[in-house]
Amino acid sequence: MSEVRRPAALMQRPNWAWQDEAACRGDEVVLFFGPDGERQPEREIRERKAKAVCAACPVRAECLTYAVSRPEKYGTWGGLNEDERSSERRRRMRRANAA
Ligand code: SF4
Repeated sequence: MSEVRRPAALMQRPNWAWQDEAACRGDEVVLFFGPDGERQPEREIRERKAKAVCAACPVRAECLTYAVSRPEKYGTWGGLNEDERSSERRRRMRRANAA
């Protein structure tokens, strides 16, 4: 099997600069990524707290765009949990296809 190699300089790298402005900087990561075996009631409480931080975040749009354009399967990003991001990803794809 042949493998196409691209020089690292030509590969598109994510722009992480928006993270410097993130409202979650310094917060406990467990607020945004639940532990294994987390039960639904605890998950809902944790996600509600994480989403409250996201709601006041100045880079929420950038964070969400990053998270829906990459395979970020877990956690709260841009104010959305995993399932909500999947819906948002599909919504954006439908909108892009309709354009
Ligand atoms: S939107 Fe939420 S997860 Fe994303 S950088 Fe802001 S606070 Fe962090």
